[in-house]
Amino acid sequence: MKPLILERRRRALLGSTAASTSLLQFELDTPLTALSRKLGARDAAKVWLASRDAVNELRTRSKRLGIEAEFATRPSLYLSGNVLDARGLRKEARCRQAIGLSSEYMDRHALRHHFGIERDAALLNHGNAEANPIQLAAGYLRLAMKSGARLCAPHEVVDLSSSSRGIELVTDDGIEIQASHVVLCTGYELAKIVPPMNNKMISTWAIATRPQPESIWPQRALIWESSEPYLYMRSTRDGRVICGGEDAEFSDPEKRDRLTKMKAARISTKLSRLMPAIDARPVYSWSGTFGANSSGMPTIGQIPGYRHCYAVMGYGGNGITFSMLASRLITAALLKRKLPESGLFGFR
Ligand SMILES: Cc1cc2nc3c(=O)[nH]c(=O)nc-3n(C[C@H](O)[C@H](O)[C@H](O)COP(=O)(O)OP(=O)(O)OC[C@H]3O[C@@H](n4cnc5c(N)ncnc54)[C@H](O)[C@@H]3O)c2cc1C
Repeated sequence: MKPLILERRRRALLGSTAASTSLLQFELDTPLTALSRKLGARDAAKVWLASRDAVNELRTRSKRLGIEAEFATRPSLYLSGNVLDARGLRKEARCRQAIGLSSEYMDRHALRHHFGIERDAALLNHGNAEANPIQLAAGYLRLAMKSGARLCAPHEVVDLSSSSRGIELVTDDGIEIQASHVVLCTGYELAKIVPPMNNKMISTWAIATRPQPESIWPQRALIWESSEPYLYMRSTRDGRVICGGEDAEFSDPEKRDRLTKMKAARISTKLSRLMPAIDARPVYSWSGTFGANSSGMPTIGQIPGYRHCYAVMGYGGNGITFSMLASRLITAALLKRKLPESGLFGFR
């Protein structure tokens, strides 16, 4: 038996589903043009299309299963910034259109006319979505339990051993669990057997305003900037604006939480500059930690050297979309089926 002690820094992080703002975008943090330079055009296209399919699948499946979760299809508006300027966005639009994504380039004039936003340019993209993250996660957990899954909480898994007979897990209160397969979906808390894949931890902040349905911008688009770090926003069903950003590259939770008041004020200022018609004063503000890597891609697959152990690392700004993708890839792996995307997201 090989003991594979898990890292115990769990309480340091805020549960990311609770912190999530739930823009369900298939658009990756890394623009398609940039990912094509890293992976080659074919693989980059496969990654983007797999992400688009995952959003569609989440939408269809949630509807079929009766999980409402304030799910709504929304376009996204990707504003020019310090990553892609107007020229870069024009090229990005052509690249997206070439692989069948519905993406329109808007110049300054069109952006002002249709959205009342002052920026050099933007892309209007169709087929994204938003949802209430707590209701979405709770809806799926409830259904899993109805189908026989057992939810055991709070228990922390602190030890994991693998042998030819399978896997044994031990919790902090001494419960032993035997399994033939284990899928580690531990968010940003990695077990030691999971290669870190150059992921880094980032602190992030968000605010929610008072309800103001009369002031929300056209089409209730999900808005984000092609900048680093980027500002993003969406509206809620009752007309609040959720806006986040101000990311910083550290994960110390005490330091992060001490900065919340100041970061919330900055997000509020940026929001009111971009959207003068919105009352941008924060009614709620919070912080969270998320993982990111240079490609914006998730890592999903069998942990090298551990035949029956899999890990899901949905890092980047699309963790929920990637969870949907992971459910397909891990199911296929357990059933020993090969999917065209399997090789793209595994540990390599
Ligand atoms: C502020 C913020 C905004 C975000 N916005 C978006 C967004 O708009 N769209 C999007 O798609 N994604 C977004 N994300 C990312 C998204 O929330 C995450 O990717 C997603 O929640 C990951 O889900 P998960 O189930 O893999 O991990 P988590 O939701 O982190 O769940 C992992 C669980 O495992 C538990 N755990 C860890 N270690 C152990 C252990 N040893 N034993 C027992 N349990 C353990 C943790 O306590 C936790 O409950 C955002 C994240 C943050 C922080």
